Amino acid sequence: MSDKQGFMKALKCRECGREVPLTATHVCEFDFGPLEVAYDYELIKKSLTREVICSRPQTMWRYRELLPIAGEPTVGRQVGYTPLVKADRLAKALGIRELWVKNDAVNYPTLSFKDRVVSVALSRSVELGFKTVACASTGNLANSVAANAAAAGLDAYVFIPSDLELGKVVNSLVYGANVISIKGHYDEVNRLCAEIAGKYGWAFVNVNMRPYYAEGSKSMGFEIAEQSGWRVPEHTVVPMASGSLLTKIHKAYQEFTKLGLVPESKWKVHGAQATGCSPISVAQKAGLDFFKPVKPNTIAKSLAIGTPADGFYALKVMKETGGHGDDVSDDEIRDGIRLLAENEGIFAETAGGVTVGVAKKLIASGKIPAGSSAVLCITGNGLKTLEAMTGHVGSTREIRPSLREFEAVMAQDKPELVAR
Ligand SMILES: *Cc1c(COP(=O)(O)O)cnc(C)c1O
Ligand SMILES: [Zn+2]
Repeated sequence: MSDKQGFMKALKCRECGREVPLTATHVCEFDFGPLEVAYDYELIKKSLTREVICSRPQTMWRYRELLPIAGEPTVGRQVGYTPLVKADRLAKALGIRELWVKNDAVNYPTLSFKDRVVSVALSRSVELGFKTVACASTGNLANSVAANAAAAGLDAYVFIPSDLELGKVVNSLVYGANVISIKGHYDEVNRLCAEIAGKYGWAFVNVNMRPYYAEGSKSMGFEIAEQSGWRVPEHTVVPMASGSLLTKIHKAYQEFTKLGLVPESKWKVHGAQATGCSPISVAQKAGLDFFKPVKPNTIAKSLAIGTPADGFYALKVMKETGGHGDDVSDDEIRDGIRLLAENEGIFAETAGGVTVGVAKKLIASGKIPAGSSAVLCITGNGLKTLEAMTGHVGSTREIRPSLREFEAVMAQDKPELVAR
């Protein structure tokens, strides 16, 4: 490992390939292309083997050579290695031979996949000397920045759209973060944050720290491959907001293949959106390389980005791998949440309903063949979006503490038991 940059080489423009130093910056000055972390794979290959990985604690940091920090992680050291659950009952309900659920609804500490990107972004921010961290968020990112900043003793400013679910708002405030609620949708929050980031010199995890932040998503792909028995699954279904997670899961599979950690294989990465905010999936279905920005209107608020920063690259990954995009209505999202809960005992947030709903569609249409095996990425916890299911899950039956009243209930449900 070289002294100050670990296994990283530089930040590299995805458009023109120019390299710049590993600072807090995210766009190429030459053509405004997005910057991405470039690694020294020769060096990584010498140090990262299956044996080395397996000897390390079960967190996302067991793949640390492939994550963009120079030294040891200092923030979010416990994040990741969430369960990959074999979902036989859901497989049967959706009509597919084999199905797995990668369950980031129980990620540590804030119950969403965002803990992955935040632990990387904040660890790198500390390395670069920042004392204040910030983000533009659709909810989960704000929760994770607030919590991880609190634990690391950093000051946090989180910016959210004002129409977020109560659970997401309280989950940011409780850690003592400065929560700025913007009267506007996420794309407006993001635009404001770009201005603030330029002026205040904070570490904005998804603005000037975005090249490092985004790499954290790869850990979900690394874990899926390792937990699948060191192979890449045939089909992976991924929810899309900015589209970044989808591109990074693909990159994770590519890196593991390049390093010889998994055998060469073909895989398809499919992208899921809500119909009320589906710029990427609509473009994919129309066979286009570019999306048209939209104004979001969906219960899947965590995915409500109308101008997705990585939409173009997500379309490219789906095209390259032969994956498909699709989208589901609010009612289908609720159905998806119920299907996962009733068949697997996992309560996902709206984004999970999107993923299950889209997987159901892709299986029904044969785009994911019934005889194949698929992994669904469940990225957030249903306890944070209770509003979405309130009034859609049946209701409790209230009685006085009396056997007679209970038997009146049972007389409706199971009269044969009451009659005895
Ligand atoms: C942020 C988020 C995503 C997707 O994020 P990308 O911007 O596409 O990387 C998916 N699910 C949940 C619950 C999220 O909070
Ligand atoms: Zn460039």
